[in-house]
Amino acid sequence: MKQTNFDYDTETIDECLKLVDKKEVTWKSEAQLKADIIEDRRNSILVNSCNNSSGFKCDQESVSGAVSQRACVYCGARVVLNPITDAFHIVHGPIGCASYTWDIRGSLTSGQDIFRNSFSTDLSEKDVIFGGEKKLASAIDEIVAKFKPKVIFVYATCIVGVIGDDIDAVCKAAEKKYSIRVIPVKSPGFAGHKSMGYKAACDALMKLMGEPTRAIKVNKVNYLGDFNLAGELWIIQNYLRKIGIDILARITGDGKCDEIKQAPKAKLNIVQCAGSMTYLAKKMEETYDIPFLKISFYGIEDTRNSLLRIADLIGDEDVKERDRKFVDEEERKIQNELKYYRSKLKGKKAAIYVGGGFKAISLIKQFRDLGIETVMVGTQTGKKDDYDIIRSITDEGTVILDDANPYELEKFMLEKGADVLVGGVKERPLAYKLGVAFCDHNHERRHPLCGFIGAVNFAKEINLTVNNPVWKYI
Ligand code: SF4
Repeated sequence: MKQTNFDYDTETIDECLKLVDKKEVTWKSEAQLKADIIEDRRNSILVNSCNNSSGFKCDQESVSGAVSQRACVYCGARVVLNPITDAFHIVHGPIGCASYTWDIRGSLTSGQDIFRNSFSTDLSEKDVIFGGEKKLASAIDEIVAKFKPKVIFVYATCIVGVIGDDIDAVCKAAEKKYSIRVIPVKSPGFAGHKSMGYKAACDALMKLMGEPTRAIKVNKVNYLGDFNLAGELWIIQNYLRKIGIDILARITGDGKCDEIKQAPKAKLNIVQCAGSMTYLAKKMEETYDIPFLKISFYGIEDTRNSLLRIADLIGDEDVKERDRKFVDEEERKIQNELKYYRSKLKGKKAAIYVGGGFKAISLIKQFRDLGIETVMVGTQTGKKDDYDIIRSITDEGTVILDDANPYELEKFMLEKGADVLVGGVKERPLAYKLGVAFCDHNHERRHPLCGFIGAVNFAKEINLTVNNPVWKYI
């Protein structure tokens, strides 16, 4: 391959683009690739090769001033708890925090839709000076009077962390006054990053489940970390039902407070979104003695393996047999369609930037199945184990990055000649600005991408965006 000599100090993104168009950019050494990256960020980026495993930095605080794509602690907590359909959520902070996460998940409900409302204490200058505890107590009183809630989650935002409102005390007093659950979520935005918000949400869920009891276990699973985007949880629930496995508690997509309180009775926890829910799974293992299994229902390979592993752990011989037949049949049904998309997509290059490591791993496999090479892959909250797997399943030369910023994503998409970026709402404009196709794999989408049907939807969407004629006119 041809080696080029970019001078990162003088060449702009536009100039780089022209070189990409002229096919003058093909390959650079790792040192050249990282030449213009902020020094503190360099150890969070690696170019995959067999001899560079050590020293990769992930799962750490974002570098100050690096303009991370990560969301704040409060957002992390809110996106995990928000899909509980019959819970009330009070955002204790300025109104802007409430709008930040208002209805941002495309989570669907089979029952109540209280979760689609947002309640805020709307803190202003006066409250910052005199404290916001009274306002919070009044907000709880108002919600109780109007809606008779069973469970209220109260989120601490940045300003609450600064002024030091004692939300524990307010929640405790309200629980006593009304005999309902009022659970504080410790999530001041500045106190870390999105992963800490996940932990705060999991701690709140543990409070909802309560102390361990001697209740007899039931032969059912809890499904952790599926947020029922576009009804995905229902698809997987249906698969499990067909092979003879029932879900006890859905945490949190289409979840209900009473159902979540019953979760400690389950025999097994299956964890879809490992980034947000492994912490809860570990806590539940320690507290309620429930083992857990990390699975993924994105892509045929992972869907098949996940169903087989669940059946192996909890099913009898009948369940296992039904499982094998079901998987074979579902795979057979979609083979022709996938064959068509493979013929359209072979040889394309993909870039991935998603929240957690498990989704990134499944996407790499899905792209490989479609004949697409992953040339850049990163996550907001991936752990070392996730990155070890990513390194082992991507080709030499793939750029792997943790907690990236827009500049890095744009730069490496261009450098590696990606035809498509898979990401979320914050990544979409980066791709379109560069004339690169985009696939939304985040909270906002309205079509399912999981299971066998999702594998076809994914291939269809990638084909539509990558082979869209619009890119010729940019
Ligand atoms: S908690 Fe802080 S960082 Fe998060 S939305 Fe509110 S003000 Fe912004």
